[in-house]
Amino acid sequence: MPKDEDFHFATRAAEKLIGDLGINALPIDPFAIASGRKIEIRPKPSSSAGVSGMLIRVGNFFAIGYATHIDNIPFQRFSISHELGHYFLPGHIDAVLGKSNVHESHAGFTSSNSYEVEADHFAAGFLMPSHLFLPILRRTGTGLAAIESLADACNTSLLATAIRVIDCTGDPMAIVVSTANKIDYCCMSDAFKEIEGITWLKKGQPVPRTSATFQLNLDSNKVQRGARTQGTANLQEWFSCDRNIEVTEDVVGLGSYGKTLTVLSDIELPDEEVEKEEEDLIESWTPRFRH
Ligand SMILES: [Zn+2]
Repeated sequence: MPKDEDFHFATRAAEKLIGDLGINALPIDPFAIASGRKIEIRPKPSSSAGVSGMLIRVGNFFAIGYATHIDNIPFQRFSISHELGHYFLPGHIDAVLGKSNVHESHAGFTSSNSYEVEADHFAAGFLMPSHLFLPILRRTGTGLAAIESLADACNTSLLATAIRVIDCTGDPMAIVVSTANKIDYCCMSDAFKEIEGITWLKKGQPVPRTSATFQLNLDSNKVQRGARTQGTANLQEWFSCDRNIEVTEDVVGLGSYGKTLTVLSDIELPDEEVEKEEEDLIESWTPRFRH
């Protein structure tokens, strides 16, 4: 789960690499960049569950294996970019390979190991470098439709793209990943974190019963099929804050992954004066009893 600003250096290292290579068009081709370093890339089915790819050392040469059990090109591209992160980030080769010649990775923001998280942040900056990503983001805005057109342009998964949008946007916006009726994690944009009274969602917290997400998650077939729905939510339901703020709730099943992505966007923060007037009005209509 990406949350720590300490890892942004890995994103920036990838962006610098793409910039130094003079790449000015999307999608980024990890195969071409690896081949420029004489790194061979091969599909390699893994026997260990959850392994997304491998970095392999053969003498002075390196090779990358990527898992094929998930038949999903954006996921494979992210996995390869994660391995390139281990190759390019300072200290990674020694740390992840040590004396062995094979490192098995768990890419896709699923591991809490700091080298894995750094390699994931590298992959995000590598496939979605800000000098190419931001101009499109400015045109598309932030809802699920915007995430989908960015994912198309970058050939990245919806989830990795959504996380990158959260990282880059100046708008208040949050995404929530859930499984059945439980929240896995939530990522909030900087502008979202500044909304007064927002509480941080914790792993394992229930999905609000009134939400469109809860409805979609009731049917695991819909999640598997990648079904989608949209609703209007209130930040009160999700973040137990006392502010009455409406948001658009876009929900999409993430397929075989078994998880659901919720995008909370289109957040118009009410003018504080208007909010105060409403509070005063409610106050003036609240009956008082004298003892
Ligand atoms: Zn790894």
